[in-house]
Amino acid sequence: MALRVLPVCRRRVLGQFLPKVKRSVRACSLSAGSAKENDDDGHHGQPAFYDIIVSGGGLVGSAMACALGYEPMLADQRILLLEAGKRKHLDKLPGTYSNRVSALSPGSVTLLDSIGAWEQISTMRFKPFKRMQVWDACSDALITFDKEDFVEDLAFIVENDVVMTALTKQLESIKDQVNVLYKSRVVKYTWPAATPESEELDEWTSESVEQTMEGPDEPCPWVKVELADGKVLQTRLLIAADGINSLARESSGIRTIRCDYDQTAIVATLHLAEPTENNVAWQRFLPSGPIAMLPLSEDLSSLVWSTSPHHAEELMDMSEETFVDAINSVFWSDSQRSEFTDTASSAFRSALSLILPTGSSVRQLPPSVASIDPGSRATFPLGLGHATDYVAPRLVLVGDAAHRVHPLAGQGVNLGFGDVAALRDLLSLAIYDGRELGSPQHLHKYETVRQRHNLPTMLAIDILNRLYSTDHTALVLLRSLGLQATNAISPLKEQIIAYASK
Ligand SMILES: Cc1cc2nc3c(=O)[nH]c(=O)nc-3n(C[C@H](O)[C@H](O)[C@H](O)COP(=O)(O)OP(=O)(O)OC[C@H]3O[C@@H](n4cnc5c(N)ncnc54)[C@H](O)[C@@H]3O)c2cc1C
Repeated sequence: MALRVLPVCRRRVLGQFLPKVKRSVRACSLSAGSAKENDDDGHHGQPAFYDIIVSGGGLVGSAMACALGYEPMLADQRILLLEAGKRKHLDKLPGTYSNRVSALSPGSVTLLDSIGAWEQISTMRFKPFKRMQVWDACSDALITFDKEDFVEDLAFIVENDVVMTALTKQLESIKDQVNVLYKSRVVKYTWPAATPESEELDEWTSESVEQTMEGPDEPCPWVKVELADGKVLQTRLLIAADGINSLARESSGIRTIRCDYDQTAIVATLHLAEPTENNVAWQRFLPSGPIAMLPLSEDLSSLVWSTSPHHAEELMDMSEETFVDAINSVFWSDSQRSEFTDTASSAFRSALSLILPTGSSVRQLPPSVASIDPGSRATFPLGLGHATDYVAPRLVLVGDAAHRVHPLAGQGVNLGFGDVAALRDLLSLAIYDGRELGSPQHLHKYETVRQRHNLPTMLAIDILNRLYSTDHTALVLLRSLGLQATNAISPLKEQIIAYASK
């Protein structure tokens, strides 16, 4: 039997009568499968219906669901977060730090703050740093980044478990607004049978709801989501936050440009030889890949060492003492430097100092490492990936599902949080304008905005990694001159900091 729903008015009419828009959209959502009663259903009869389903509850998907739940304009929308794994929540902050951490940019902190998660993180633990020193193992070139001469924090190192706990708590505080289903793996997506042209999607909505209710043979205008436990759900808009091997992206036919770096990252928790202010993030470019030491506390730092898979295996097999010696050696040793590049580099620096006398940086020495947390070593394969499209009808990609970057600039989850903020704002505007949530025309604005930010970032990181992962003399010289020139031009450095802070 056909269910009658309130007609969804045309966008230009709705734009003038906002409260009416919200009522109409709500009437439509609830009619389309009585989601309130069916929240945990979807096994029998009509599939449970949601306005928005976020698939994947990692850092980005959880932040996305939270951001939607906290957005007043989306208060009437039925929102569901699906996560294949179990609920990730630290009941008590462990004494030892986790080996998985992220350098969060001020932009990410602003997003987390807007959903109450930063306050939660502040009651747990994080470590800001005020300076970053990056230097080359094959020459004496270096670059430093800081804000207002050490006054402002550059970024914040937070354990991923701590961010996840904060997001989980915040999601629980809005459980009337956002449903969360853990241990719920999506095994199949069915995309809308007919793809209406973007302009027509606003008008298509109410008719489609009726069609869905007519019978099983009618083409379904929604995204159908099938879970491993047999549940079937439907949604107006599927936000895919299901990581680098995104099933949603693959099954929708969106292509990905990808390559493996033939590099593996080793992470570990490091104990410093002596406590210090520890407010500098250190990164040295070695011919095999970058090694970074990120502050966690006065006497602890987190290691991210990118190297060849073979070398990574050797490092994993070493005793902890030998591993510590290897870390200290690559941070301190000058054995990779050549007289030729040192002489050329120093001549270039002298010439630069005549033109830009204030453009040099004080070289600081990194702290030495005394030991590592037992069992904290772990490896991660590294690669690059970028979806050719971030949107399709009723589908949007966010986070690693859309883009995967090398961790050398600590940008992966920051790009994902940037996606979240942009998409939340756009969906809020869609409701305000009385638009259909899955309208590709509107969603393309998200794609444009985010690709404009993400692509140059990814390209810069990729070029840096390739340029520095070699000891070829010509390239060493080229990068050494480039690094020094960038270091000498303060406005350029300020631009880089501003861009990475978003
Ligand atoms: C060594 C290392 C260091 C890093 N350091 C930094 C850093 O300092 N700063 C930074 O910004 N970034 C950093 N990154 C990158 C960052 O960790 C990632 O970009 C980020 O975790 C991606 O989050 P995500 O939520 O998009 O994806 P994921 O973390 O992969 O989450 C995807 C989620 O989707 C779920 N899922 C998958 N398939 C399904 C399905 N079919 N059904 C339901 N659920 C599903 C998974 O269970 C998972 O929880 C680093 C990465 C590495 C490897």
